[in-house]
Amino acid sequence: MGKVGVALAAGCAAAACVVAAVMVGRSVRRRRGWRRVVRVLEELEEGCATTVGRLRQVVDAMAVEMHAGLASEGGSKLKMLLTYVHDLPTGNEKGIYYALDLGGTNFRVLRVKLGGQRCIIEHDVDLQPIPQHLMTSSSVELFDFIATSLKDFVEREENISEPSQRERRELGFTFSFPVKQTSSSSGTLMKWTKGFSIEDAVGRDVSQCLQEALSRKGLDMQVTVLINDTVGTLALGHYHDEDTVAAVIIGTGTNACYLERADAIIKCQGLLTTSAGMVINMEWGNFWSSHLPRTPYDAELDADSPNPNDQGFEKMISGMYLGDIVRRVILRMSQESDVFGPVSSKLHEPFILRTPMVAAMHEDDSSNLNEVAQILKDTLEIPDVPLNVRKLVVKVCDVVTRRAARLAAAGIVGILKKIGRDGNSGMTGGKTKGGSRIKMRRTVVAVEGGLYANYTMFREYLNEAMRQILGEDVAPYVILNVTNDGSGIGAALLAASHSASTITENTNFIVI
Ligand code: ADP
Ligand code: MG
Repeated sequence: MGKVGVALAAGCAAAACVVAAVMVGRSVRRRRGWRRVVRVLEELEEGCATTVGRLRQVVDAMAVEMHAGLASEGGSKLKMLLTYVHDLPTGNEKGIYYALDLGGTNFRVLRVKLGGQRCIIEHDVDLQPIPQHLMTSSSVELFDFIATSLKDFVEREENISEPSQRERRELGFTFSFPVKQTSSSSGTLMKWTKGFSIEDAVGRDVSQCLQEALSRKGLDMQVTVLINDTVGTLALGHYHDEDTVAAVIIGTGTNACYLERADAIIKCQGLLTTSAGMVINMEWGNFWSSHLPRTPYDAELDADSPNPNDQGFEKMISGMYLGDIVRRVILRMSQESDVFGPVSSKLHEPFILRTPMVAAMHEDDSSNLNEVAQILKDTLEIPDVPLNVRKLVVKVCDVVTRRAARLAAAGIVGILKKIGRDGNSGMTGGKTKGGSRIKMRRTVVAVEGGLYANYTMFREYLNEAMRQILGEDVAPYVILNVTNDGSGIGAALLAASHSASTITENTNFIVI
Protein backbone atom coordinates (compact mmCIF):
# COMPACT_ATOMS: atom_id res chain seq x y z
CA MET A 1 0.00 0.00 0.00
CA GLY A 2 1.39 3.39 -0.98
CA LYS A 3 1.44 6.45 1.21
CA VAL A 4 -1.81 7.72 -0.27
CA GLY A 5 -3.45 4.36 0.37
CA VAL A 6 -2.32 4.37 4.01
CA ALA A 7 -3.57 7.93 4.49
CA LEU A 8 -6.94 7.02 2.94
CA ALA A 9 -7.29 3.93 5.10
CA ALA A 10 -6.38 5.92 8.19
CA GLY A 11 -8.92 8.61 7.20
CA CYS A 12 -11.68 6.02 6.68
CA ALA A 13 -10.93 4.40 10.03
CA ALA A 14 -11.09 7.78 11.76
CA ALA A 15 -14.42 8.59 10.05
CA ALA A 16 -15.81 5.19 11.07
CA CYS A 17 -14.73 5.91 14.63
CA VAL A 18 -16.50 9.27 14.56
CA VAL A 19 -19.69 7.70 13.16
CA ALA A 20 -19.51 4.93 15.73
CA ALA A 21 -18.88 7.46 18.48
CA VAL A 22 -21.86 9.56 17.31
CA MET A 23 -24.07 6.44 17.19
CA VAL A 24 -22.92 5.29 20.60
CA GLY A 25 -23.39 8.83 21.90
CA ARG A 26 -26.91 8.93 20.45
CA SER A 27 -27.81 5.58 21.85
CA VAL A 28 -26.37 6.53 25.27
CA ARG A 29 -28.37 9.77 25.11
CA ARG A 30 -31.45 7.89 23.99
CA ARG A 31 -30.99 5.42 26.84
CA ARG A 32 -30.50 8.27 29.30
CA GLY A 33 -33.51 10.09 27.83
CA TRP A 34 -35.56 6.94 28.10
CA ARG A 35 -34.44 6.46 31.73
CA ARG A 36 -35.48 10.03 32.50
CA VAL A 37 -39.03 9.58 31.11
CA VAL A 38 -39.36 6.27 32.90
CA ARG A 39 -38.39 8.11 36.09
CA VAL A 40 -41.12 10.71 35.38
CA LEU A 41 -43.60 7.85 35.01
CA GLU A 42 -42.43 6.18 38.22
CA GLU A 43 -42.78 9.45 40.12
CA LEU A 44 -46.28 9.86 38.70
CA GLU A 45 -47.19 6.35 39.81
CA GLU A 46 -45.85 6.99 43.30
CA GLY A 47 -47.66 10.33 43.51
CA CYS A 48 -50.96 8.83 42.34
CA ALA A 49 -50.80 5.74 44.55
CA THR A 50 -54.21 4.68 45.81
CA THR A 51 -53.61 1.63 47.97
CA VAL A 52 -56.72 0.27 49.65
CA GLY A 53 -55.33 1.61 52.95
CA ARG A 54 -55.07 5.11 51.46
CA LEU A 55 -58.58 4.86 50.01
CA ARG A 56 -59.96 3.88 53.43
CA GLN A 57 -58.37 7.05 54.84
CA VAL A 58 -60.18 9.04 52.15
CA VAL A 59 -63.43 7.24 53.05
CA ASP A 60 -63.01 8.25 56.70
CA ALA A 61 -62.10 11.82 55.79
CA MET A 62 -65.20 12.12 53.58
CA ALA A 63 -67.46 10.89 56.40
CA VAL A 64 -65.79 13.26 58.91
CA GLU A 65 -66.17 16.26 56.57
CA MET A 66 -69.81 15.37 55.95
CA HIS A 67 -70.42 15.48 59.71
CA ALA A 68 -68.62 18.83 59.93
CA GLY A 69 -70.57 20.33 57.03
CA LEU A 70 -73.86 19.25 58.61
CA ALA A 71 -72.88 20.58 62.03
CA SER A 72 -72.47 24.23 61.06
CA GLU A 73 -72.59 26.55 58.08
CA GLY A 74 -69.03 26.81 56.76
CA GLY A 75 -67.91 23.95 59.05
CA SER A 76 -66.28 22.11 56.15
CA LYS A 77 -65.21 22.55 52.55
CA LEU A 78 -68.24 20.33 51.88
CA LYS A 79 -71.16 22.74 51.81
CA MET A 80 -73.75 20.01 52.51
CA LEU A 81 -76.57 22.19 51.13
CA LEU A 82 -80.16 21.66 52.25
CA THR A 83 -82.58 20.86 49.43
CA TYR A 84 -85.84 20.69 51.46
CA VAL A 85 -86.68 17.63 49.36
CA HIS A 86 -88.20 15.32 51.98
CA ASP A 87 -89.89 12.86 49.70
CA LEU A 88 -88.94 11.10 46.50
CA PRO A 89 -91.03 9.63 43.67
CA THR A 90 -92.54 6.25 44.46
CA GLY A 91 -93.33 5.04 40.97
CA ASN A 92 -97.07 5.56 41.45
CA GLU A 93 -97.12 9.05 39.93
CA LYS A 94 -99.43 9.56 36.96
CA GLY A 95 -99.99 12.30 34.42
CA ILE A 96 -98.04 14.73 32.28
CA TYR A 97 -95.31 16.90 33.79
CA TYR A 98 -92.75 19.29 32.38
CA ALA A 99 -89.12 19.92 33.24
CA LEU A 100 -86.58 22.58 32.41
CA ASP A 101 -82.88 21.77 32.73
CA LEU A 102 -80.52 24.75 32.80
CA GLY A 103 -76.93 24.17 33.79
CA GLY A 104 -74.58 25.03 30.99
CA THR A 105 -74.42 26.32 27.50
CA ASN A 106 -77.50 24.34 26.46
CA PHE A 107 -80.86 24.13 28.12
CA ARG A 108 -83.46 21.47 27.66
CA VAL A 109 -87.20 21.31 28.01
CA LEU A 110 -88.93 18.00 28.62
CA ARG A 111 -92.42 16.61 28.72
CA VAL A 112 -92.84 13.35 30.59
CA LYS A 113 -95.94 11.17 30.68
CA LEU A 114 -96.13 8.92 33.73
CA GLY A 115 -98.36 5.89 33.87
CA GLY A 116 -97.94 4.71 37.46
CA GLN A 117 -96.24 1.38 38.32
CA ARG A 118 -92.83 2.92 37.68
CA CYS A 119 -93.73 3.41 34.05
CA ILE A 120 -92.59 6.39 31.99
CA ILE A 121 -94.96 6.07 29.04
CA GLU A 122 -93.14 8.64 26.92
CA HIS A 123 -90.80 11.55 27.21
CA ASP A 124 -89.97 14.24 24.69
CA VAL A 125 -86.97 16.49 24.88
CA ASP A 126 -86.01 19.68 23.11
CA LEU A 127 -82.47 21.01 23.38
CA GLN A 128 -81.44 24.57 22.63
CA PRO A 129 -78.24 26.53 23.01
CA ILE A 130 -78.39 29.67 25.15
CA PRO A 131 -77.38 32.56 22.88
CA GLN A 132 -74.02 33.87 24.06
CA HIS A 133 -75.24 37.45 24.62
CA LEU A 134 -77.97 36.27 27.01
CA MET A 135 -75.38 34.70 29.33
CA THR A 136 -74.25 38.16 30.36
CA SER A 137 -77.44 40.16 29.84
CA SER A 138 -80.24 40.76 32.39
CA SER A 139 -82.28 38.18 34.27
CA VAL A 140 -85.48 39.35 32.53
CA GLU A 141 -83.93 38.79 29.10
CA LEU A 142 -82.59 35.34 30.01
CA PHE A 143 -85.78 34.09 31.68
CA ASP A 144 -88.01 35.59 28.96
CA PHE A 145 -86.02 33.68 26.36
CA ILE A 146 -86.38 30.44 28.32
CA ALA A 147 -90.10 31.02 28.94
CA THR A 148 -90.72 31.69 25.25
CA SER A 149 -88.90 28.49 24.26
CA LEU A 150 -90.87 26.55 26.85
CA LYS A 151 -94.16 28.02 25.63
CA ASP A 152 -93.35 27.10 22.01
CA PHE A 153 -92.46 23.56 23.13
CA VAL A 154 -95.70 23.16 25.13
CA GLU A 155 -97.82 24.40 22.20
CA ARG A 156 -96.05 22.08 19.75
CA GLU A 157 -96.40 19.09 22.06
CA GLU A 158 -100.03 19.74 22.91
CA ASN A 159 -100.87 20.12 19.22
CA ILE A 160 -99.61 16.65 18.43
CA SER A 161 -100.53 14.79 21.61
CA GLU A 162 -103.03 15.05 24.42
CA PRO A 163 -102.95 18.15 26.63
CA SER A 164 -102.13 17.86 30.30
CA GLN A 165 -105.20 16.74 32.28
CA ARG A 166 -104.17 18.77 35.31
CA GLU A 167 -105.82 22.03 36.23
CA ARG A 168 -102.48 23.69 35.85
CA ARG A 169 -99.35 22.40 34.16
CA GLU A 170 -96.51 21.67 36.60
CA LEU A 171 -92.79 22.02 36.06
CA GLY A 172 -89.62 20.75 37.73
CA PHE A 173 -86.77 23.24 37.32
CA THR A 174 -83.21 21.88 37.36
CA PHE A 175 -80.87 24.79 37.87
CA SER A 176 -77.28 23.58 38.26
CA PHE A 177 -75.64 26.66 39.71
CA PRO A 178 -74.97 27.28 43.42
CA VAL A 179 -78.30 28.05 45.05
CA LYS A 180 -79.27 28.60 48.67
CA GLN A 181 -82.59 26.80 48.85
CA THR A 182 -85.34 28.34 50.94
CA SER A 183 -87.82 25.54 50.20
CA SER A 184 -88.06 22.64 47.73
CA SER A 185 -89.47 25.09 45.18
CA SER A 186 -87.47 28.24 45.84
CA GLY A 187 -83.90 29.36 46.34
CA THR A 188 -81.61 32.32 45.80
CA LEU A 189 -78.72 32.31 43.37
CA MET A 190 -75.40 32.54 45.25
CA LYS A 191 -73.15 33.06 42.22
CA TRP A 192 -73.01 32.28 38.52
CA THR A 193 -70.45 29.83 37.10
CA LYS A 194 -69.69 28.28 33.68
CA GLY A 195 -69.50 31.56 31.79
CA PHE A 196 -72.78 33.09 32.99
CA SER A 197 -72.63 36.52 34.57
CA ILE A 198 -75.95 38.28 35.07
CA GLU A 199 -75.42 40.47 38.09
CA ASP A 200 -79.05 41.40 38.77
CA ALA A 201 -79.97 37.72 39.22
CA VAL A 202 -77.51 37.10 42.07
CA GLY A 203 -79.34 37.04 45.41
CA ARG A 204 -82.73 36.64 43.70
CA ASP A 205 -85.11 33.70 43.86
CA VAL A 206 -84.51 31.94 40.53
CA SER A 207 -87.76 30.04 40.75
CA GLN A 208 -89.65 33.31 41.07
CA CYS A 209 -87.69 34.81 38.16
CA LEU A 210 -88.87 31.90 36.00
CA GLN A 211 -92.44 32.04 37.34
CA GLU A 212 -92.68 35.76 36.54
CA ALA A 213 -91.34 35.18 33.01
CA LEU A 214 -93.91 32.40 32.46
CA SER A 215 -96.67 34.84 33.48
CA ARG A 216 -95.30 37.56 31.20
CA LYS A 217 -95.41 35.09 28.29
CA GLY A 218 -98.91 33.89 29.22
CA LEU A 219 -97.94 30.28 29.94
CA ASP A 220 -100.06 28.75 32.68
CA MET A 221 -97.50 26.64 34.49
CA GLN A 222 -96.43 26.25 38.13
CA VAL A 223 -92.78 25.83 39.12
CA THR A 224 -93.32 22.98 41.58
CA VAL A 225 -89.71 22.09 42.46
CA LEU A 226 -86.31 23.72 42.12
CA ILE A 227 -83.41 21.24 42.25
CA ASN A 228 -79.91 20.61 40.99
CA ASP A 229 -78.86 17.77 38.67
CA THR A 230 -77.72 15.33 41.40
CA VAL A 231 -81.14 15.54 43.07
CA GLY A 232 -82.81 14.79 39.72
CA THR A 233 -80.56 11.75 39.33
CA LEU A 234 -81.47 10.55 42.83
CA ALA A 235 -85.17 11.01 42.04
CA LEU A 236 -84.91 8.99 38.82
CA GLY A 237 -82.83 6.31 40.57
CA HIS A 238 -85.35 6.08 43.41
CA TYR A 239 -88.26 5.96 40.94
CA HIS A 240 -86.80 2.81 39.40
CA ASP A 241 -85.44 1.29 42.61
CA GLU A 242 -86.59 2.23 46.10
CA ASP A 243 -83.32 1.14 47.69
CA THR A 244 -81.54 4.08 46.02
CA VAL A 245 -80.05 6.26 48.77
CA ALA A 246 -77.52 8.43 46.96
CA ALA A 247 -76.68 9.81 43.53
CA VAL A 248 -73.33 10.71 42.03
CA ILE A 249 -72.58 12.63 38.85
CA ILE A 250 -69.24 12.03 37.16
CA GLY A 251 -69.22 13.97 33.91
CA THR A 252 -67.62 17.30 33.05
CA GLY A 253 -67.75 18.02 36.79
CA THR A 254 -68.59 15.83 39.76
CA ASN A 255 -71.06 16.09 42.64
CA ALA A 256 -73.18 13.89 44.89
CA CYS A 257 -76.33 13.99 47.00
CA TYR A 258 -77.86 11.52 49.43
CA LEU A 259 -80.68 10.96 51.89
CA GLU A 260 -79.91 12.14 55.41
CA ARG A 261 -81.76 11.70 58.70
CA ALA A 262 -83.35 14.91 59.99
CA ASP A 263 -81.66 14.64 63.39
CA ALA A 264 -78.22 14.44 61.74
CA ILE A 265 -78.65 17.84 60.08
CA ILE A 266 -77.57 19.75 63.14
CA LYS A 267 -77.15 23.13 61.44
CA CYS A 268 -80.87 23.50 60.76
CA GLN A 269 -82.47 21.90 63.79
CA GLY A 270 -84.73 24.88 64.46
CA LEU A 271 -85.78 25.24 60.83
CA LEU A 272 -87.11 21.80 60.02
CA THR A 273 -90.85 21.37 60.29
CA THR A 274 -90.81 17.64 59.77
CA SER A 275 -88.90 14.74 61.24
CA ALA A 276 -88.62 13.12 57.80
CA GLY A 277 -85.19 12.89 56.23
CA MET A 278 -83.91 15.28 53.62
CA VAL A 279 -81.82 15.09 50.47
CA ILE A 280 -78.49 16.84 51.03
CA ASN A 281 -76.58 18.28 48.07
CA MET A 282 -72.98 17.71 49.14
CA GLU A 283 -71.19 19.80 46.50
CA TRP A 284 -68.48 17.15 46.91
CA GLY A 285 -66.32 18.55 44.11
CA ASN A 286 -64.93 20.88 46.76
CA PHE A 287 -63.96 18.06 49.16
CA TRP A 288 -60.37 18.16 50.35
CA SER A 289 -58.23 15.97 52.58
CA SER A 290 -54.50 15.62 53.19
CA HIS A 291 -54.96 11.91 52.39
CA LEU A 292 -55.70 12.67 48.72
CA PRO A 293 -52.71 11.64 46.59
CA ARG A 294 -51.68 14.95 45.05
CA THR A 295 -48.90 15.42 42.48
CA PRO A 296 -47.09 18.55 41.26
CA TYR A 297 -49.28 18.34 38.11
CA ASP A 298 -52.40 18.78 40.25
CA ALA A 299 -50.84 21.73 42.03
CA GLU A 300 -49.95 23.39 38.71
CA LEU A 301 -53.38 22.73 37.23
CA ASP A 302 -54.98 24.27 40.30
CA ALA A 303 -52.70 27.32 40.30
CA ASP A 304 -53.41 27.94 36.60
CA SER A 305 -57.19 27.57 37.04
CA PRO A 306 -59.61 30.49 37.47
CA ASN A 307 -60.60 29.04 40.88
CA PRO A 308 -57.42 28.05 42.76
CA ASN A 309 -57.93 26.16 46.05
CA ASP A 310 -61.48 25.42 44.97
CA GLN A 311 -63.02 22.15 43.74
CA GLY A 312 -59.90 20.12 44.62
CA PHE A 313 -61.65 16.71 44.48
CA GLU A 314 -63.30 17.60 41.18
CA LYS A 315 -59.94 18.59 39.68
CA MET A 316 -58.58 15.08 40.37
CA ILE A 317 -61.65 13.19 39.20
CA SER A 318 -63.84 14.77 36.57
CA GLY A 319 -63.85 14.80 32.79
CA MET A 320 -63.07 18.48 32.58
CA TYR A 321 -59.59 17.93 34.04
CA LEU A 322 -58.25 14.40 33.38
CA GLY A 323 -57.10 15.25 29.87
CA ASP A 324 -55.22 18.28 31.11
CA ILE A 325 -53.41 16.30 33.82
CA VAL A 326 -52.26 13.83 31.13
CA ARG A 327 -51.14 16.75 28.91
CA ARG A 328 -49.03 18.15 31.74
CA VAL A 329 -47.29 14.79 32.31
CA ILE A 330 -46.49 14.38 28.59
CA LEU A 331 -45.16 17.95 28.52
CA ARG A 332 -42.84 17.20 31.42
CA MET A 333 -41.63 13.99 29.73
CA SER A 334 -41.04 15.88 26.52
CA GLN A 335 -39.05 18.56 28.36
CA GLU A 336 -36.96 15.92 30.17
CA SER A 337 -35.88 14.05 27.04
CA ASP A 338 -36.24 13.93 23.30
CA VAL A 339 -38.30 10.74 23.11
CA PHE A 340 -41.17 12.84 21.72
CA GLY A 341 -38.83 14.83 19.46
CA PRO A 342 -38.67 18.62 19.93
CA VAL A 343 -41.19 19.94 22.49
CA SER A 344 -44.43 20.63 20.60
CA SER A 345 -45.95 24.05 21.24
CA LYS A 346 -49.33 22.30 21.44
CA LEU A 347 -48.23 20.69 24.70
CA HIS A 348 -48.31 24.15 26.27
CA GLU A 349 -51.96 24.71 25.32
CA PRO A 350 -54.28 24.17 28.30
CA PHE A 351 -57.16 21.73 27.79
CA ILE A 352 -56.12 20.84 24.24
CA LEU A 353 -56.14 17.15 25.20
CA ARG A 354 -59.75 16.30 26.09
CA THR A 355 -60.72 13.40 28.34
CA PRO A 356 -62.47 11.41 25.57
CA MET A 357 -59.10 11.42 23.75
CA VAL A 358 -57.44 10.05 26.88
CA ALA A 359 -60.08 7.31 26.89
CA ALA A 360 -59.49 6.56 23.20
CA MET A 361 -55.70 6.24 23.75
CA HIS A 362 -56.14 4.21 26.94
CA GLU A 363 -58.53 1.79 25.28
CA ASP A 364 -56.60 1.49 21.99
CA ASP A 365 -56.36 -2.27 21.50
CA SER A 366 -54.55 -2.23 18.14
CA SER A 367 -51.15 -3.94 18.25
CA ASN A 368 -49.37 -0.82 16.98
CA LEU A 369 -51.38 1.60 19.11
CA ASN A 370 -52.48 3.41 15.98
CA GLU A 371 -55.09 5.50 17.78
CA VAL A 372 -52.44 6.76 20.21
CA ALA A 373 -50.16 7.72 17.32
CA GLN A 374 -53.04 9.46 15.56
CA ILE A 375 -54.08 11.55 18.57
CA LEU A 376 -50.47 12.49 19.37
CA LYS A 377 -50.03 13.58 15.77
CA ASP A 378 -53.37 15.31 15.15
CA THR A 379 -53.96 16.96 18.51
CA LEU A 380 -50.51 17.47 19.99
CA GLU A 381 -48.62 17.70 16.69
CA ILE A 382 -46.12 15.05 17.77
CA PRO A 383 -45.52 12.83 14.71
CA ASP A 384 -43.69 9.50 14.36
CA VAL A 385 -43.76 8.39 17.96
CA PRO A 386 -42.14 4.96 18.36
CA LEU A 387 -44.15 2.10 19.84
CA ASN A 388 -42.40 2.03 23.21
CA VAL A 389 -43.21 5.74 23.70
CA ARG A 390 -46.83 5.17 22.68
CA LYS A 391 -46.98 2.49 25.37
CA LEU A 392 -45.66 5.02 27.83
CA VAL A 393 -48.48 7.42 26.93
CA VAL A 394 -51.06 4.67 27.47
CA LYS A 395 -49.54 4.05 30.89
CA VAL A 396 -49.84 7.75 31.79
CA CYS A 397 -53.54 7.68 30.81
CA ASP A 398 -53.96 4.55 32.92
CA VAL A 399 -52.36 6.02 36.05
CA VAL A 400 -54.34 9.28 35.91
CA THR A 401 -57.67 7.56 35.15
CA ARG A 402 -57.18 4.83 37.73
CA ARG A 403 -56.51 7.35 40.48
CA ALA A 404 -59.61 9.36 39.51
CA ALA A 405 -61.89 6.32 39.45
CA ARG A 406 -60.59 4.95 42.75
CA LEU A 407 -60.97 8.29 44.50
CA ALA A 408 -64.55 8.56 43.26
CA ALA A 409 -65.17 5.06 44.68
CA ALA A 410 -63.73 6.15 48.03
CA GLY A 411 -66.05 9.17 47.99
CA ILE A 412 -69.07 6.92 47.41
CA VAL A 413 -68.06 4.59 50.25
CA GLY A 414 -67.58 7.71 52.42
CA ILE A 415 -71.27 8.53 51.90
CA LEU A 416 -72.24 4.94 52.70
CA LYS A 417 -70.14 5.08 55.86
CA LYS A 418 -71.84 8.31 56.94
CA ILE A 419 -75.28 6.70 56.64
CA GLY A 420 -74.25 3.36 58.07
CA ARG A 421 -74.39 1.37 54.86
CA ASP A 422 -70.70 0.50 54.43
CA GLY A 423 -70.90 -2.72 56.37
CA ASN A 424 -68.83 -1.47 59.27
CA SER A 425 -71.40 0.50 61.15
CA GLY A 426 -73.52 -1.15 63.79
CA MET A 427 -76.70 -2.73 62.51
CA THR A 428 -75.71 -2.93 58.88
CA GLY A 429 -72.30 -4.49 59.42
CA GLY A 430 -71.46 -7.63 57.48
CA LYS A 431 -70.29 -9.47 60.58
CA THR A 432 -70.42 -8.87 64.31
CA LYS A 433 -67.26 -8.96 66.37
CA GLY A 434 -67.90 -12.62 67.15
CA GLY A 435 -68.09 -13.34 63.42
CA SER A 436 -71.80 -14.15 63.15
CA ARG A 437 -73.63 -12.61 60.21
CA ILE A 438 -75.95 -9.62 60.44
CA LYS A 439 -78.50 -9.01 57.71
CA MET A 440 -77.17 -6.43 55.24
CA ARG A 441 -79.51 -3.96 53.57
CA ARG A 442 -79.46 -3.72 49.81
CA THR A 443 -78.10 -0.27 48.95
CA VAL A 444 -78.27 1.38 45.55
CA VAL A 445 -76.36 4.42 44.33
CA ALA A 446 -77.52 6.08 41.09
CA VAL A 447 -74.60 7.16 38.92
CA GLU A 448 -74.77 9.44 35.93
CA GLY A 449 -72.36 11.32 33.70
CA GLY A 450 -70.39 10.83 30.52
CA LEU A 451 -67.15 9.84 32.24
CA TYR A 452 -68.68 6.90 34.11
CA ALA A 453 -71.14 5.92 31.39
CA ASN A 454 -68.82 6.10 28.37
CA TYR A 455 -65.30 5.38 29.64
CA THR A 456 -65.21 1.64 30.27
CA MET A 457 -61.79 1.54 31.98
CA PHE A 458 -62.84 4.34 34.35
CA ARG A 459 -66.02 2.44 35.24
CA GLU A 460 -64.19 -0.84 35.76
CA TYR A 461 -61.55 0.77 37.99
CA LEU A 462 -64.26 2.45 40.05
CA ASN A 463 -66.24 -0.78 40.44
CA GLU A 464 -63.10 -2.72 41.36
CA ALA A 465 -62.14 -0.18 44.03
CA MET A 466 -65.66 -0.35 45.51
CA ARG A 467 -65.24 -4.12 45.93
CA GLN A 468 -61.78 -3.72 47.43
CA ILE A 469 -62.81 -1.08 49.96
CA LEU A 470 -66.09 -2.72 50.98
CA GLY A 471 -64.73 -6.28 51.02
CA GLU A 472 -66.26 -9.43 49.56
CA ASP A 473 -68.95 -9.77 52.27
CA VAL A 474 -70.42 -6.31 51.86
CA ALA A 475 -69.77 -5.44 48.21
CA PRO A 476 -72.59 -7.60 46.77
CA TYR A 477 -75.13 -5.53 48.72
CA VAL A 478 -74.00 -2.24 47.18
CA ILE A 479 -75.20 -1.67 43.63
CA LEU A 480 -74.26 1.18 41.31
CA ASN A 481 -77.05 1.86 38.82
CA VAL A 482 -76.42 4.01 35.76
CA THR A 483 -79.28 6.43 35.11
CA ASN A 484 -79.86 8.43 31.97
CA ASP A 485 -81.05 11.99 31.93
CA GLY A 486 -81.81 12.19 35.64
CA SER A 487 -81.31 15.94 35.55
CA GLY A 488 -84.26 16.25 33.17
CA ILE A 489 -86.59 13.33 33.85
CA GLY A 490 -85.86 13.43 37.59
CA ALA A 491 -87.07 17.04 37.76
CA ALA A 492 -90.37 16.06 36.10
CA LEU A 493 -90.71 13.12 38.51
CA LEU A 494 -90.17 15.41 41.49
CA ALA A 495 -92.70 17.87 40.07
CA ALA A 496 -95.10 14.92 40.01
CA SER A 497 -94.36 13.71 43.52
CA HIS A 498 -94.53 17.29 44.87
CA SER A 499 -97.63 18.19 42.92
CA ALA A 500 -100.38 19.62 45.12
CA SER A 501 -102.84 17.17 43.59
CA THR A 502 -100.81 14.03 44.23
CA ILE A 503 -99.10 14.83 47.46
CA THR A 504 -101.65 13.22 49.75
CA GLU A 505 -102.22 10.05 47.75
CA ASN A 506 -98.59 9.61 46.86
CA THR A 507 -96.36 10.90 49.59
CA ASN A 508 -93.23 8.88 50.22
CA PHE A 509 -91.49 10.65 53.06
CA ILE A 510 -87.96 9.56 53.43
CA VAL A 511 -87.57 7.04 56.20
CA ILE A 512 -83.97 6.09 56.82
P1 ADP B 1 -72.21 17.21 31.73
O1 ADP B 1 -71.37 16.72 32.87
O2 ADP B 1 -71.58 18.36 31.03
O3 ADP B 1 -73.63 17.42 32.11
P2 ADP B 1 -72.05 14.56 30.65
O4 ADP B 1 -72.55 13.92 31.89
O5 ADP B 1 -72.57 14.03 29.36
O6 ADP B 1 -72.26 16.11 30.61
O7 ADP B 1 -70.47 14.39 30.67
C1 ADP B 1 -69.72 14.87 29.62
C2 ADP B 1 -68.28 14.70 30.00
O8 ADP B 1 -67.98 13.32 30.17
C3 ADP B 1 -67.35 15.21 28.94
O9 ADP B 1 -66.99 16.55 29.21
C4 ADP B 1 -66.15 14.30 29.04
O10 ADP B 1 -65.24 14.84 29.95
C5 ADP B 1 -66.69 13.03 29.63
N1 ADP B 1 -66.86 12.02 28.58
C6 ADP B 1 -67.86 11.91 27.70
N2 ADP B 1 -67.65 10.84 26.88
C7 ADP B 1 -66.49 10.30 27.26
C8 ADP B 1 -65.72 9.19 26.81
N3 ADP B 1 -66.09 8.41 25.80
N4 ADP B 1 -64.60 8.93 27.45
C9 ADP B 1 -64.18 9.69 28.46
N5 ADP B 1 -64.84 10.76 28.93
C10 ADP B 1 -65.99 11.04 28.34
MG1 MG C 1 -75.15 16.79 33.21
